Amino acid sequence: MKGLRNKGKVILVGAGSGDPELLTVKGMRYLQAADVILTDRLVSPEIIQSFASPSANVIYVGKQCRRGHSTPQATINELMVLYAQDEKLVVRLKGGDVSIFSNILDELQTLVQHNIPYEIVPGVTAALGAAAYAGMPLTARNYSTAVRFLTAYQSDVVSDDYWKDLAQTEDTLVFYMSSETLGNVVRHLTENGIAAEKGLAVVEQATTPYQQVYTCSLYEYKEKLSGKKFLSPTLVIIGKVVALHGQFKWLQSRSENVEYFKAESIVRNETEQLALTA
Ligand code: SAH
Repeated sequence: MKGLRNKGKVILVGAGSGDPELLTVKGMRYLQAADVILTDRLVSPEIIQSFASPSANVIYVGKQCRRGHSTPQATINELMVLYAQDEKLVVRLKGGDVSIFSNILDELQTLVQHNIPYEIVPGVTAALGAAAYAGMPLTARNYSTAVRFLTAYQSDVVSDDYWKDLAQTEDTLVFYMSSETLGNVVRHLTENGIAAEKGLAVVEQATTPYQQVYTCSLYEYKEKLSGKKFLSPTLVIIGKVVALHGQFKWLQSRSENVEYFKAESIVRNETEQLALTA
């Protein structure tokens, strides 16, 4: 990035899954140089505090589908264009990796339409963060030879035939945005005869100081976890590899019921109102 013309450009950066030290060096350098930072909800507040320049304009554009305020995608697109056309270096900071279950396509299309130069910097997606910090290698030898990243946030995202396939496969299954529909996921898989030796892990606030991991067999779900309210964000991992957590967990996390990702701690100046009220 040194020596490159960085003004009037947008850098889409993956912030990693929680632990601020999971940000890449490249992402950190761009944050330090940024004039404007448009940040999502699932970004560690410490990343902004530690790396953003004090003069940077930090705008919270978090989306939270089911509760609270949500910034419309059109507003995010407009802000990127507005600041890039004003010759600013804009960092668009997203939780985890930029390409996994995110609206990056809308943003790329907008940038191309407006002839705005951009770069994409990857990040540690929640599945990989959770696997590492829960000691649960997703394709451990003799346990699984593949992994699938999925979502079941609405009941019709996965078809009946595909549920059958998901119940039979040896692949490790990772469900994003699915904690509220977890009962459904378990029901579909057990109805389709998923093997009892495959485990279910719910990883709450992965890679943060408040990470919690709950595990059980899918057939025990009803009595052990059903009805439990998990703190957002939560990732669900299903497969034989869940058994490895008991042996290889290493993270000492605090057990307080604290939410790590808070919008208020990110927001830094009045321009935020622009995004919130637009
Ligand atoms: N782009 C992000 C995913 C965005 S979708 C990434 O690559 O990780 C949002 C979903 O990601 C959440 O509903 C949750 O399922 C998952 N997620 C993100 N961060 C998480 C974390 N720290 N712990 C657990 N799940 C997380």
